[in-house]
Amino acid sequence: VLSIKAELETAVRTREEGEKNMDTITTHREYEALDKQISEASLKEAELRKSLQKEEKTLAELDDIIKSTEAMIASQENDLNTSKETLNNQINTYKTELDELGKQEEGIVPGLDQEILFKFQRIIQRNSEGIVAVKNGVCTGCHMILPAQFANEVHVGEKILFCPYCSRILFYEQSDDDSQETFFNDSGSLADLDDDFADDEEYDEENEFMDEDESSDDDVSGDDGDELEEDSEE
Ligand SMILES: [Zn+2]
Repeated sequence: VLSIKAELETAVRTREEGEKNMDTITTHREYEALDKQISEASLKEAELRKSLQKEEKTLAELDDIIKSTEAMIASQENDLNTSKETLNNQINTYKTELDELGKQEEGIVPGLDQEILFKFQRIIQRNSEGIVAVKNGVCTGCHMILPAQFANEVHVGEKILFCPYCSRILFYEQSDDDSQETFFNDSGSLADLDDDFADDEEYDEENEFMDEDESSDDDVSGDDGDELEEDSEE
């Protein structure tokens, strides 16, 4: 835009000088030369004004883009700072919590069985929770069904027991759902559970047997159809 403005200034000056000199000329030749100078300068002036307008429009558009981008950056920076502050607060809360837990740990650890403590520390390296409830005979850490006798021992709570599947330390918790508890009390042991599964298998086998019957029937009828076709062809 600045360079066009400078060029425009030159064109305007050339035209104006030409117009001024018109008053002092004496010959037709001088007139023609001046006339040419003026019209060329006018043409150039018009062209330059047109491109100046175009460039100024582009400049204004670019300026708008810069302004909206700057506003966006400012708003994102603002969001970022807010998030950063929230995160820092969270970190501080965790640090306080950690200090508190550290103090509690110092109070508890000296009285603990060293072997149990070692096992527990290994468990919590792998899992977020090292001590989980047994509910309805199921370990709530790994959701495996525990042997009924073992679940009863957890319920009695005389010694520290580890889940045989996920190694977490277990404690008994009253079930929310009484019907499932009843189901477990009724079955009594895993052996009974196995019987239930066995019943299911028998049922499936019966179904399979029926399927085989049906499929063999299909085969026969299929063969019949083939034979009929062959007959008709003959
Ligand atoms: Zn488990």
